[in-house]
Amino acid sequence: MHTKLLIDGELVEGAGAPLAVIDPATGEQIVQVRQADAAQLHHAVRSAQQAFETYSKTTPAQRAGLLMDIAGVVEQHAEELAALESANVGKPWPSALADEMPLTLDTFRFFAGAARTLAGVAAGEYVAGHTSLIRRDPLGPVAAIAPWNYPLMMAAWKLAAPLAAGCSVVLKPSEVTPLSTLHLAHLLADVLPRGVVNVIHGEGRSTGDRLINAPGIEAVSITGSPATGSAAMRAAAAEMRQVHVELGGKAPVIVYDDADIDRLVATLRATAFFNAGQDCAQPCRLLVASKVYDRVVSALAEAASSIRTGAPRAAGTEMGPLVTELHRQRVAGFVDRARAHAEVVSGGTVEAGGGFFYRPTVIADVDHHAEIATQEVFGPVITVSRFSEQQDPIAIANATRYGLASSLWTRDSGRAMEASSRLRYGFTWVNTHGVATPEMPWAAMKGSGHGCDMSVFALDAYTSVRHVMLAHG
Ligand code: NAD
Repeated sequence: MHTKLLIDGELVEGAGAPLAVIDPATGEQIVQVRQADAAQLHHAVRSAQQAFETYSKTTPAQRAGLLMDIAGVVEQHAEELAALESANVGKPWPSALADEMPLTLDTFRFFAGAARTLAGVAAGEYVAGHTSLIRRDPLGPVAAIAPWNYPLMMAAWKLAAPLAAGCSVVLKPSEVTPLSTLHLAHLLADVLPRGVVNVIHGEGRSTGDRLINAPGIEAVSITGSPATGSAAMRAAAAEMRQVHVELGGKAPVIVYDDADIDRLVATLRATAFFNAGQDCAQPCRLLVASKVYDRVVSALAEAASSIRTGAPRAAGTEMGPLVTELHRQRVAGFVDRARAHAEVVSGGTVEAGGGFFYRPTVIADVDHHAEIATQEVFGPVITVSRFSEQQDPIAIANATRYGLASSLWTRDSGRAMEASSRLRYGFTWVNTHGVATPEMPWAAMKGSGHGCDMSVFALDAYTSVRHVMLAHG
C-alpha cells in the first residue's frame, strides 16, 4: 500500500505525525499515513512554483498528451485504484470500479481535449494605430483540496482542469480517505515532469489551512463543506487569490402530480442511497404534489427497505457503511431530532456490528422549514414534504442557502422549462437525477459555492483574461 507523498517529483514519507486510516466496514485500522510537516508543505509549494515556470509555457498539445498519459495509467491501474477506494470509503465492489472509474478516467480524457480549446475572444484595432489581442493564461500554482466522498474522482476534477489550463498543483486529499490519491501520486511520479503535481497529506485545520494560505499559491480550489469554503474565501481575501469553491448541497426533487412515479422511485432507489447518500447532489429533499404524495411515500418506503446493506465485498451489497463513526452519529442525530415533528417510515436505525452502517431512511410529513429539510445530512436519508395547489414548490426549493443540484419530475415539458428557469440551482435534471458527463458543468450557486467543475467552463477558475496592445508606429 502506498503511503508516500509526492513532493518535487520524489516519493517521500511524511515527516509529520501519523494519522490512522480506518476501514469503515469494520472500524479497524487499514494503515497509518504520516502527514506532511510545514517544511514539506512549503517544499511542495516551491516545487509547484518552479514547475509553473516551464509547465505554463507548454503547448496545449503537450498538456493534452500529459493528460492522456495520466488517463492511461489510471486505466491500467483501475482495479487497484477502485479496490482502495472501496476499502477506504466502504463503497460496494464492483460499483467502485464500474460506476465511478469511468467518469474519473473520462475526466482526464475530456480535459486533454479541453486543453486545446482555450482561446482569446477578440483581436483587432480598438484604438487607431494599435492592435489589441486577448489572451487567456494560466494563473499559477493551485492549492487543491478534495473531500472524502469520491476521493479519486474529486482528485481527478481538482487535477485535470488546472493541468489543462497550464497550472501546477499541490493537491491535498481528505485525511479520512487518502489511499487512492496516494496510490495515484505513486503512479504519476513516473508520468509527470517534476513538481507539476505535488500530493501532500494532513488534516484540514492544520495542513489544509497552511496550504491555502501558503505564499506562492495563486489560486485555491476546494470541494468540501461550506465551513471549509469559507476558510478558503478568507485565505483568498487575505492574499487576493482566485478561489473556486464547490460545497455542500441539499438537492430538492420536485414531483408534480403528472410525474412518472415508478420511474421516480426507481431513480431514487438507485441514486439517493448511492455511496450511502454521501453525495453533494444526492436527491434528498422531495417536494411532492398532494395528489400523489401518499403513493410516493409508500413506494419510497418499500424501495428503501429493500436495499441490501453490507460489507463492500459481500455478494449483493447495494449500500456500504458511512465513512466514520463520527459521521454516523451526525446523521443519526439529524434523524433523531426529526422524529419529534415527522414520521420515519423506513430505516432510522444504526446497524449492529463493527462498521459504521446505517439503514436507508425515509422521513415523511416533513415541514418545509424543518432542520432535516433544510440542512445537508450527507447520509442515506431522504425527506418527503407535500405541496398543495396553492403553493409554489419552486419558491419553497429556492428558500435555502444551498444551490447545487435539483430535479423536476413532470410529463409536461413546458412546465419543466418554466420551473427550471426559476430554480436557483447550478444544475437541474428533468425526469432523472444524478447523471453526470465531463462535457457539462457541475455548477454551484449561492451557499453551495461558485463556478463549476467539469466542462470547458471549469478552466475559468485557473486562467486569467489578459489584454496585450501593440502600437503600430
Ligand atoms: P470538509 O470540508 O470537512 O473537508 C474537505 C477537505 O477540506 C478535506 O481535504 C479537509 O481536510 C479540508 N479542510 C477542512 N478544513 C480546512 C481548512 N480550514 N482549510 C483548508 N482545508 C480544510 O468536507 P468533507 O466532509 O470531506 O466532504 C463533505 C462535504 O463536501 C459535503 O458538504 C459535500 O456536499 C461536499 N462536496 C461537494 C461537492 C461538489 O461538487 N459541490 C462534491 C463532493 C463533496
